[in-house]
Amino acid sequence: TGQVLEVRDLVKHYRVGGGRSVRAVDGISFDIAPGEVLGLVGESGSGKSTVGRCLVRLIDPTAGTISLNGRDITHLSRRQLRPVRRDIHIVFQDPFSSLNPRFTVGQIVAEPLRRHRLAAGAQLASKVTRMLDRVGLPATTAHRYPHELSGGQRQRVGLARALVLEPALVVADEPVSALDVSVRAAVLNLITDLQAEMGFSCLFITHDLSVVEFLADRIAVMYVGQIVEHGPREQIFGQPQHPYTQALLSAAPVPDPVRQRQRRRVVLGSDVPSPVAPPPGCRFHTRCPVAVDRCREDEPKLVDARTSGQLVACHLVTATSVPDVL
Ligand code: SF4
Ligand code: MG
Repeated sequence: TGQVLEVRDLVKHYRVGGGRSVRAVDGISFDIAPGEVLGLVGESGSGKSTVGRCLVRLIDPTAGTISLNGRDITHLSRRQLRPVRRDIHIVFQDPFSSLNPRFTVGQIVAEPLRRHRLAAGAQLASKVTRMLDRVGLPATTAHRYPHELSGGQRQRVGLARALVLEPALVVADEPVSALDVSVRAAVLNLITDLQAEMGFSCLFITHDLSVVEFLADRIAVMYVGQIVEHGPREQIFGQPQHPYTQALLSAAPVPDPVRQRQRRRVVLGSDVPSPVAPPPGCRFHTRCPVAVDRCREDEPKLVDARTSGQLVACHLVTATSVPDVL
């Protein structure tokens, strides 16, 4: 099929007390092509991080399939996964907790190369130096420890470790959200440059739509465990169809004053519903400013909005875009 990643009907439910479960991810599907960046956007609790963790098999999905380069990796054992881990890496939000404090930066970046027996000795050292250079860190950083570095430097180390094997797919889970605003743009630009230069595919997970405006080729918006809208970046930003996407966009700070004026500001009432008991019908109906009666009972499917090239799960959008056959 030529896709780097294919995710089909992915489900992750966690059992909680009283026979109930958290429906963290509830049946989502998407592809990522070679060299493509998919932005996965949603509020905290939408299940987006759970998707990322399922992809790298840090957690096991409840149902569905995950294929990497055409190979179903959903049920591989730890041992079978070992070679697969060359091709898929995750970058976490908090680089400090994900870097071993007892290792030097050089040891941290060398570790994936050692584990996969891809380099040793002088060759290993030169690969590490080259990777540090690529993420904008001087060679001397190799001798330092994570606690000696700033947050931005630590995230550069996290990137160096994730990219040193030149993986086919990088899952970046809120990689700039924990950083000071002052260094966020620099790290984001670095990720953009590295992606263009190395050509890896990327699932970029964020709660902040504006972060992926210049990075993502396509955007999928998640709400309470499901994808509610999915389409090309320009379409999502230019003509969002789903009321939730419209609300997220209207809340995001937009540097362009013209577009800010054109956007209708939508303020979302109430909190994100619990994924233990998602609302019936459309899960967004408890907050949707344009909900109709049908929305409370009838669950909208994610379907092609026809006129726009987007997939949208909303009764109002499908009602107006599907030609009336009666
Ligand atoms: Fe709003 Fe109804 Fe559309 Fe859901 S289906 S987003 S509640 S209009
Ligand atoms: Mg998260």
